[in-house]
Amino acid sequence: MMQVTFLGTSAALPTVDRNVSAFMLQREGELLLFDCGEGTQRQMMRYGAGFAMEDIFFSHYHSDHTLGLPGLLRSLGMMARTAPLRIYGPRGAHKQLGQLVALGLERVKFPVEIIELTPGQVIARGDYEIQVGEANHRGDCLAYAVVEHDRLGRFDPELAKTLGIQEGPLWGRIHRGESVTLESGRVVAAAELVGPARPGRRVTYSGDSAPTDAMLHLAAGADLLIHEATFGEDERERALETMHSTAREAATVAMEAGVRRLALTHISARYTREAPELLAEAKAVFEATVIARDGMTIDVPYRSA
Ligand SMILES: [Zn+2]
Ligand SMILES: [Zn+2]
Repeated sequence: MMQVTFLGTSAALPTVDRNVSAFMLQREGELLLFDCGEGTQRQMMRYGAGFAMEDIFFSHYHSDHTLGLPGLLRSLGMMARTAPLRIYGPRGAHKQLGQLVALGLERVKFPVEIIELTPGQVIARGDYEIQVGEANHRGDCLAYAVVEHDRLGRFDPELAKTLGIQEGPLWGRIHRGESVTLESGRVVAAAELVGPARPGRRVTYSGDSAPTDAMLHLAAGADLLIHEATFGEDERERALETMHSTAREAATVAMEAGVRRLALTHISARYTREAPELLAEAKAVFEATVIARDGMTIDVPYRSA
């Protein structure tokens, strides 16, 4: 399973309804935390997001995305965590994140590794990877895409039996693409019994960003695009000034990148909890849009079951 839980969806300031930026991505039992605004650890408890993540990815170092780290580290220490934690961020990571780690270090008994990333980098994991992109914001800011590798095509057990290939190790070899020779001398090609490879899932996160072509690339064909929409078109000037996106701009990225779903986050405190004007503005361009709210979870299913 793959699921995103929003822990904070407000821009700059927390409000009664929204905490500052963070979300947890859960994938096959693994947890990846993206950004960690002040109070994120309490949101993690509140929404049952779990604390067993091994990675935290920071988009940038503005305080509404980072101040939750020292408190989270201290709590993890008090929970007697021993597993290492890796924290990632753009240029300046060792200085910027190092300061925050130092604040939380008193009770930290587990190793914390700081890793500086540059746009274009790919972090390889077993059956998926994390692609690092460039956002368009004040100072260095990264966007991320979690991209699963294609899965093997579907194996047809009935057809295999019909051909006289009984269940056993041969099935696995054929499934992985090998041709096999039967006792009769007939060669069975994998393609006879295995369908085409099935695409994995892609979740893209914009970080804080004004619209940029780089995001189109990182979000291309995404199953879920989490894009900031700090403002509506009514605040276009401010969006330009502060290098943020409007809801309409975020929806345009979603449409042009051909994503399946769009979740808007990093909503300015000037909008209400439901932010109907932002939703309407985005839906006029891209229908499959939701306004993220704290505690909202979004499942990310495979395109073909
Ligand atoms: Zn921000
Ligand atoms: Zn920012």
